Amino acid sequence: MSQRTPIIGGNWKMNTGLESGMSLAGSIVDSLEVFDSCDVVLYPPLTFLQAIESVIGDSSIALGAQNMWHEESGAFTGEISGAMLGDVGVTSVLVGHSERRHVMGETDACIQQKVSTGVALGLQVVLCVGETLDQREAGNTLNVVLSQVRSGLSNIQEDQLVQLVLAYEPVWAIGTGKTATPEDAQNVHLEIRSTIAELYTDAVAQQTRIQYGGSVKPDNAADLFACEDIDGALIGGASLSADSFTAIVKATRTP
Ligand code: PEP
Repeated sequence: MSQRTPIIGGNWKMNTGLESGMSLAGSIVDSLEVFDSCDVVLYPPLTFLQAIESVIGDSSIALGAQNMWHEESGAFTGEISGAMLGDVGVTSVLVGHSERRHVMGETDACIQQKVSTGVALGLQVVLCVGETLDQREAGNTLNVVLSQVRSGLSNIQEDQLVQLVLAYEPVWAIGTGKTATPEDAQNVHLEIRSTIAELYTDAVAQQTRIQYGGSVKPDNAADLFACEDIDGALIGGASLSADSFTAIVKATRTP
């Protein structure tokens, strides 16, 4: 890993209950009390945001949301705006997670609007990109991923890039127990960074964090984090256990 501060996100998806979520967050806070060499963000279900906020309190752990809608307010039944998230202490939002793209049918155009709005509201936006198994087997990984990156960033100015984190999450690796090899992941991360350099400057590309996501566990995390262009991870399944999540966070510590 480079000089960039690694960032680990715990994406709880539609899991935990109110009490179990608060207890999970409490155990994570306790375990990471003296660990400050990495940014940590928890993304609980929307209805638990305020409760989890009260648990993480003034610890160094940040509160994130798994999704937002791009409009400020209005007739969007069931949706939540970025400003509403900010009101309950959210500072980071996932945009374009593969489940939003492939289960809920979000398009690149919709994701692009969410990225722009999230950034305009001062949130940290984690733009998730990744290829499906079919796209990978057809040799289209880089075409797909880099086009998602270009589209997601198309309204973002260079000085706003500091609010962006990229998350490379191969769809076939999410929740499947299959992980990209560190070499494969590093290769895609390097290409993403080169694309950012091409769109903006090399200097800003070198400062931009790119997380890996897809079945990261305590036993494969350190090898992934040893790669030059992998700046932490977005964790699904393993973020539901305080022990495994905090072990992954601690694996970011450079040997
Ligand atoms: C995710 O949901 O972003 C994810 C990477 O899930 P998992 O770690 O379970 O593969």
